[in-house]
Amino acid sequence: MVLNGTLIRKAILAELAEKVQSHLQAGKRPPHLAAVLIGEDPASQTYVAHKVRDCQQVGYQSTLIHKEAAISQAELLGIIAELNQDARIDGFIVQLPLPAHLSEVAVIEAIAPEKDVDGFHPVNIGRMSKGLQALLPATPAGIVELLQRYGIETQGKHCVVVGRSNIVGTPMALLMSRNRNPGNCTVTLCHSHTQNLGHYTRQADILIAAAGQPEFISADMVKEGAVVIDVGIHRKADASHPNGFRLVGDVQYDQVAPKAKAITPVPGGVGPMTRAMLLLNTYHVYHATHG
Ligand code: NDP
Repeated sequence: MVLNGTLIRKAILAELAEKVQSHLQAGKRPPHLAAVLIGEDPASQTYVAHKVRDCQQVGYQSTLIHKEAAISQAELLGIIAELNQDARIDGFIVQLPLPAHLSEVAVIEAIAPEKDVDGFHPVNIGRMSKGLQALLPATPAGIVELLQRYGIETQGKHCVVVGRSNIVGTPMALLMSRNRNPGNCTVTLCHSHTQNLGHYTRQADILIAAAGQPEFISADMVKEGAVVIDVGIHRKADASHPNGFRLVGDVQYDQVAPKAKAITPVPGGVGPMTRAMLLLNTYHVYHATHG
């Protein structure tokens, strides 16, 4: 079975658009997401443009604050302080990565946790770790949502997560281990110091590949009947494609798919879910204050 993130994303956006309409009909303002973009990094510009477009699609208001790469840390913190105070804005993100002279840690910690719709603030990570209500980081939250909407059983399963970054692997492992549904897994968290990675991945009922290594999960590393979630996104040179490249994940899709009970494609799996979760988090914040 292919876990189609594009399809589920469409369903989530349609649900959100309907909710926004009913709020508007009740005379309320729409949810409002702001994005802060620093510098001219083409990938960041594309990501932010997608986020703005997603907002338009569901009827949210969006504000893009674009500043030059040379902005000082103090000036950026000033913008964040204003956004924290602005009651017209429900949530905001600062697009990462930032230019090297800016501290991502300081920037993330300056965001008011209740407006932190990326779910990166230590307060939200801490609340998530304790199983309390929190704004969850988009990629792990999107994977949980995908598993739930496809009715994938997780309780009692062995989930192996490859990669321990703060935004993907670590929160993913935490969410899958919590006493919740989806969750209640026995979790193994692997990283670049893991010895004999295949020994662990072959035991996975649910394998989540988030190492950022193109097509490095081969069929012999996957158990027959496993659920395989591929987080990686990489450009692979391919002269037969109009752009000269195609997107691949961390998993050798063509070899692994026949063995897997369910698998996410790249593109069209985890990526669209990540985008949808930002909108869902923004709605959660809006709903908490506007009912
Ligand atoms: P990071 O580079 O921050 O983290 C990669 C993690 O993988 C690290 O913990 C690293 O270990 C581990 N790792 C690297 N190589 C190996 C290896 N050979 N064996 C085992 N573990 C390894 O990446 P992110 O978590 O930010 O992203 C991971 C991938 O997911 C990327 O391809 C990224 O583009 C993609 N991504 C996709 C999203 C989506 O929406 N689909 C969203 C976010 C990311 P160590 O800690 O020891 O260095």
